Amino acid sequence: MKKALITGVAGQDGSYLADLLLSKGYEVHGIVKRESVEDANHRLGNLSHSIDRIHLHPVSVNNHLSLYKLFRDIQPDECYHLAASSFVHYNFDDEFLILNNNFNSTHYLLSTIKELKPSCRLFFAGSSEMFGEPDESPQTELTRFNPKSIYGISKIASYYMIRNYRDKEGLFACTGIMYNHESPRRGHQFVTRKITSTVAKIARGEASTLSLGNLDALRDWGWAPDYVEAMWRMLQTETPDDFIVSTGKLHSVRDFVDIAFRLAGLDYAKYVATDPRFFRPSEHIPLCGNPSKIAATLSWRNSRSLEEIIGSMLQADGIEV
Ligand code: GDP
Repeated sequence: MKKALITGVAGQDGSYLADLLLSKGYEVHGIVKRESVEDANHRLGNLSHSIDRIHLHPVSVNNHLSLYKLFRDIQPDECYHLAASSFVHYNFDDEFLILNNNFNSTHYLLSTIKELKPSCRLFFAGSSEMFGEPDESPQTELTRFNPKSIYGISKIASYYMIRNYRDKEGLFACTGIMYNHESPRRGHQFVTRKITSTVAKIARGEASTLSLGNLDALRDWGWAPDYVEAMWRMLQTETPDDFIVSTGKLHSVRDFVDIAFRLAGLDYAKYVATDPRFFRPSEHIPLCGNPSKIAATLSWRNSRSLEEIIGSMLQADGIEV
């Protein structure tokens, strides 16, 4: 039986990945924050159906020694590093926290794997934020990085560390450059879940307005369960490599809103208001990933249309579609 260790197992991706690996017969270990265990009902909701089958470890990914000891005890065959701090709007203190946490945790994992079990394969969740304001759209694995957030910078630093351990130490370590991917398990701070949960409230008469920022902002939105399948496939190949994981299709926030209201039998124009608080500065060239490499190499593709994704999210928020 293969053993896997997932950091950030309680998040959208971690929980879907745990489901996938359990279905394949893996012994699944997950790292969660200590607060999550103490406040399990609230913070481990994504794992409520699987919690009895996952070994949960309340360990900080930013404590090298405890990570090392945990790894030594488990001896995983595969490790998926999904945990990260990801605030888009941050204050100055957060800047140090995001960079240090996100970079150090990757570095600690790499050095631990090298030291204790170099045969363990490592997947690292990169982000389209690594391209920030890209020179070209769609982006490929060869597009120049141009990060515009500390989060993007932290992901690039980890990406180079992964490459370095792969090239110099021979580790099987790779980065998936993940574009936005959504599901009923998406957090409410993201625009997609904010939209579907508010549409559901409006349909039930519990809310009357949906306040949003830039309706013309464009995103490449995929179906989250497919994206964790991509992570797993990246670790099953012969040669470790980095891949963009995306749909290659762009939609605007307005498209998303329009479809969500329509599926709920409502006209969005009556309910949507714009609020300057939710606008982001400069989003000129859209983040859209070209998935040709992963399609050709791993036969992977995003399987659900945006309308199908929105339908699933609305259903989870209590609307029959
Ligand atoms: P991100 O790609 O990680 O930033 O994912 P989000 O879901 O937070 O944002 C996706 C896009 O929606 C961005 O281009 C935002 O500018 C845009 N957007 C428009 N209105 C809102 C809003 O009210 N909340 C959020 N979070 N994003 C919004």
